[in-house]
Amino acid sequence: MGLTLADRQGSNEGILMAKVDSVRTASPSDEYRVTIVKYGTRDVNRRDVYLNYQLYNEPNAPIGMDYFFWLIQNDDRTIVVDTGFSQAGGEKRQRTTLYPVAQLMNDFGVDPASAPDIIVTHAHYDHIGNLDLFPTSTIVIAQQELDFWKGPHAHRTMFHHSVEDDDLRYLSQAVKEERVHTFSDHLGLVSGVEIIEVGGHTPGQLMVKVNTSEGVVLLASDAIHYYEEYERDMLFMSVASLVGMYEGFDRVRRMEESGEIDILVSGHDPDTLARFTPVDGEYRDVAAVIGGSRE
Ligand SMILES: [Zn+2]
Repeated sequence: MGLTLADRQGSNEGILMAKVDSVRTASPSDEYRVTIVKYGTRDVNRRDVYLNYQLYNEPNAPIGMDYFFWLIQNDDRTIVVDTGFSQAGGEKRQRTTLYPVAQLMNDFGVDPASAPDIIVTHAHYDHIGNLDLFPTSTIVIAQQELDFWKGPHAHRTMFHHSVEDDDLRYLSQAVKEERVHTFSDHLGLVSGVEIIEVGGHTPGQLMVKVNTSEGVVLLASDAIHYYEEYERDMLFMSVASLVGMYEGFDRVRRMEESGEIDILVSGHDPDTLARFTPVDGEYRDVAAVIGGSRE
């Protein structure tokens, strides 16, 4: 403990340098595999997830919602993107837990003792429960997100229903322990992994860009809950800024059009896993990989 993110990046670079002499068939160190892991789900209808759904003049129908966390891994490094909902946070909202997050982290090769960096895309209950699994990790979050949840609007009904006070307290405690790294706008976390502050859904909503052998992946998290939400410009019901949310869609469109990103991963769409390569074995129905299979 006590090492800053920059210190640890520095020391990791030292380790990478030492390995250069013994380059094997490994992929380049700035290339990662992304694993999408579904740990929870719920049944829900279209009019319950889209804001002012009646404006679209379309019938109501089931749409479903899946809950994911994401892993960014290569031979040298593991980065965790979000940590799912806690048992209490999930039960309160009657969400279905498919597998405990702790079990999935372990089985996908994430060792809390190695203190992997944790990117928190935003502070909603379904993204920061289980941070306590990583008591020595550096937590990376937008300054604006951290400030918002300590500010005068966090307790208001439209915002507070999406968070758990216990989770926010844990985050505050981590700040006191000096293991929360904040930034604004953009952060190159390590070579091959960039974090982009987009806002909209929450004041400091983040997206994560990752180099893989299949192309550049954008983990949109809740900047895009559903592919349809983005493709048809239909806003999700929980939103901090309407304009910010639309601007986020436009920004992702520009990233796609310019070739800056190749592969888009939604935050909650039940169609997400089917778009990618399932992992082998027990978790084939709940996890998929981009940029390499699990060996
Ligand atoms: Zn979410």
